[in-house]
Amino acid sequence: MLAEHEKLAREAAGRDEPYEAYLLRLTEVEVTARAANALAGRIRAAGFPVLKDFDTFDFTATPSLPKQKLLELARGEWIDQHYNCCLIGTAGTGKTHLATALGLAACRAGRRVRFVTAAGLVTVLDEAQQQHRLDRALTQLDRLDLLIVDELGYLSFSRTGAELLFQVFADRYERRSLLVTSNLGFGEWGQVFQGERMTAALLDRLTHRCHIFEMNGESYRFRESMKAKKDQTPKRGK
Ligand code: ADP
Ligand code: MG
Repeated sequence: MLAEHEKLAREAAGRDEPYEAYLLRLTEVEVTARAANALAGRIRAAGFPVLKDFDTFDFTATPSLPKQKLLELARGEWIDQHYNCCLIGTAGTGKTHLATALGLAACRAGRRVRFVTAAGLVTVLDEAQQQHRLDRALTQLDRLDLLIVDELGYLSFSRTGAELLFQVFADRYERRSLLVTSNLGFGEWGQVFQGERMTAALLDRLTHRCHIFEMNGESYRFRESMKAKKDQTPKRGK
């Protein structure tokens, strides 16, 4: 309002507008600016590694991926319903890209989102526990409407690490949404969590009320670099 009131007042005077119309315009400018700042703050707080959205995602690269269903998830009702989402597939198939796009959509809908890697989350929780502030760290996570845990499965955890992660997943069950990406099929999660019982209990909670997408196929990265190489190769003959 401070930045715009003089300019808008001049415009209003020029158009012979009533005072109420000027006040409305000025208030609209303030409300719009506040909403934009709040959104930028939510996106910053989410900590996405790179901002990637649906508009740059090529759905034809993975034809088996149900595009309509994913775009429907972008509307965010699943988060209101405390559903989870799992993106399972081999490296380079766009799991992180889609997880980020879904997270951005949630930010736009006013949700509190945080993007972490599984290893990063375990490190943070482990440190918090050692410094006797685990409760506070868990409370902070609990405030999030959507917690995105990327790259589960690339590293396995210590017993303590696995237990901490289990605690977060179990806490959120039916109360808050989780989005997990993994290169491992569910049958292989025992390797990460050590112990069949904990793995079974965790999967039971995670996959009950869960949208699961399988994203297996050729790596998009690999395909792009092969294409680039082919384009660079000088044409011989003729
Ligand atoms: P993953 O997390 O499954 O290993 P990423 O999401 O990191 O894969 O994707 C690797 C790179 O390829 C990223 O730069 C990503 O934006 C891009 N990418 C992957 N799949 C697609 C796609 N279908 N359309 C556009 N870009 C894609
Ligand atoms: Mg990834």
